[in-house]
Amino acid sequence: MEAMKPNILLIYTGGTIGMIKNPNTGELQAFDFNNLLKRIPELKLLSCNISTVSFEEPIDSSNMNPEYWLQMAEIIEKNYNDFDGFVVLHGSDTMSYTASALSFMLENLAKPVILTGSQLPIGDLRTDAKENLITSIQMASLIKNNKPVIREVGLYFEYKLYRGNRTTKINAEHFEAFESLNYPHLAESGVHIKINSEALFTPNAKKKLKVHKVLDTNIALIKLFPGISKSVLECIINNPSVKGIILETYGAGNATTESWFITLIDEVIKRGVQVINVTQCSGGSVNMGQYETSSELKKIGVITGKDITTEAAIVKLMYFLGEKISANTFKTIFETSLRGEMS
Ligand code: ASP
Repeated sequence: MEAMKPNILLIYTGGTIGMIKNPNTGELQAFDFNNLLKRIPELKLLSCNISTVSFEEPIDSSNMNPEYWLQMAEIIEKNYNDFDGFVVLHGSDTMSYTASALSFMLENLAKPVILTGSQLPIGDLRTDAKENLITSIQMASLIKNNKPVIREVGLYFEYKLYRGNRTTKINAEHFEAFESLNYPHLAESGVHIKINSEALFTPNAKKKLKVHKVLDTNIALIKLFPGISKSVLECIINNPSVKGIILETYGAGNATTESWFITLIDEVIKRGVQVINVTQCSGGSVNMGQYETSSELKKIGVITGKDITTEAAIVKLMYFLGEKISANTFKTIFETSLRGEMS
């Protein structure tokens, strides 16, 4: 008897993958999803059933925001029991943010949600879109012992599947546009698809999918640089709407030890604002206390982001503020890995 084919839902949000050049302006613009499917007849050859749903108006992912994240999360929630896996077509510019957001919003996810896109539109002769899309669908279709193999939010690009909330877009031109410097890739596509089983996330299969829908965007991202101005920083940090701050520091979590800076951060923490330390380096981890230039930050209660990406830290902060996590437990829970986003 022929085995049942997995059911895959393809969610089209926009991005270069589905764009065409406007003949008048030469700009790349999103176009109709049905056109996209017509350009990949190979999809019919895959051994899975593919259904599709599209954003009413596909977007360039530079216009991504939490309302769109909610739309995606709700599409997955609504179709969760009817499908074995989900593939989200998305622009590469903010794909790592969306992958991180979905990973936090979809608690107890036990099915694959794979984001992919491309650097060249699907109609381009040299496009990377076909391979990315076809292999993403194949990875989302993998089943072993009646269970999906991938049970987390992944990002597939140029022959590699990564844990989504570990990725960063590192190149605006190369087909190899993403990197996950602090976590090994989950799978690689060559002649065969090789799964790195040890790296896969193991969800608690007994728990039901729970979708977190409230993200609080009253946060600030501050990247330190030599010469950063006190008055500019005061304007941001003392803004009464700010409830959380991601501080992108140097190296292993280091910052200037000038007293005005430490006092400013100390005061804001005392006012109840959460301050998270993440490193500006693409790889490696914050380790407050390793250098004198981070010891004060540790003492005044700055939260360590360890080896989290800035993208994942931003969404984790929005998620925690949205969940109204209490001030007593905020630091401890933030410093705990929830979806494999930190080591
Ligand atoms: N600007 C495009 C987007 O992010 C780039 C891409 O799709 O790769 O939507």
